[in-house]
Amino acid sequence: MTKTREEIEPALPRSVRHGPRITLTCECGERTYVHYGERWTCPKCRRSWNTRRIPLEQYAAIRRTQLRYRRIPIAVSVLALVCIIAFIIVGEPFSGLILVAFAITAWSMFARPFHRRRYREALAKLPSWEIEPD
Ligand SMILES: [Zn+2]
Repeated sequence: MTKTREEIEPALPRSVRHGPRITLTCECGERTYVHYGERWTCPKCRRSWNTRRIPLEQYAAIRRTQLRYRRIPIAVSVLALVCIIAFIIVGEPFSGLILVAFAITAWSMFARPFHRRRYREALAKLPSWEIEPD
């Protein structure tokens, strides 16, 4: 029986597999975006790259940054939902909808661009790695 890929290479934690993509630049200049754990063979020069050569702990730190910044939009969505439900319970569904629509507009116009910029700045500070081809 042939071995599956998981048997040869141990499965990665879910949080790592769903992390931000890594920009992989080949020695010949060819560039691609891959998930942690993926292999890539450069179409130009046939060099083979394995992102598992990146230290897992360092990559996990990037993932944690991503999750930290994702918490705020999730919290805002939950809050909006709670508001709607609260207004429905007190018998004022339309007032609730208007308030939430107003809040969402305010969020997307003012808070979100600011939040996005902070997130991009945080990601830009994260490390880059030099790995050897297989
Ligand atoms: Zn190449």
